[in-house]
Amino acid sequence: MNFNSAQCPKCKKPLDFCLCTLIRPMSTQHYVLILQHPQEPDKELGTATLAQQALEKATLKVGLSWPNLKAALGRPATPSEWAVLYLGSGIKREDGKKTAGQPLQFVSKKSLPIPTPKKLEGIIVLDGTWSQAKALWWRNPWLLKLHRAILTPTQTSLYKNLRKEPRPECLSTIETIAECLTTLGEPPEVDRYLRNLFQQLLDRYRTRGKSIGSTAAIT
Ligand SMILES: [Zn+2]
Repeated sequence: MNFNSAQCPKCKKPLDFCLCTLIRPMSTQHYVLILQHPQEPDKELGTATLAQQALEKATLKVGLSWPNLKAALGRPATPSEWAVLYLGSGIKREDGKKTAGQPLQFVSKKSLPIPTPKKLEGIIVLDGTWSQAKALWWRNPWLLKLHRAILTPTQTSLYKNLRKEPRPECLSTIETIAECLTTLGEPPEVDRYLRNLFQQLLDRYRTRGKSIGSTAAIT
């Protein structure tokens, strides 16, 4: 959908969707690095920039590949103290069946559940469609050196029928980050704040949609 409105220089959203003046960055224990595929097209409802602005310890990088964690993050970091949100199809048990664990379950390279690492500085979230995120995964082999975690969301996305996600459990990037941070032990205020910002973005979208008489769904 194209609203043809001017763009905010900071968040790159059309001005009607800009929440920049409302954002007061929150501090967290864990760092978040968002790697965004350059073709992630969603200017209106994309939430990576919002998440990055809303968290003091967050970095958003747009690109296809980086040589290592340090280059992606823009500062030195220890790969063994970082995790990547893995795109695997689920967590397996020793007997091969899937299992339900905590929302953010760390897994071995064979997708078997393992305990949460004792020392974890940050988590990497890949932003884009399913296939764009997969492309980022394969183009950055250094991600294999990090811990892997699989998120099984506990809440349905606020997107609801606004967006056709490839799978019903898919969340927006900001909701994904909220769930990850909560499971990693961040206080519930962080989750509430991130979800509230997302709700405000959706409210803007619905209001704007109504004002131009459009009810078209976004894909
Ligand atoms: Zn803005």
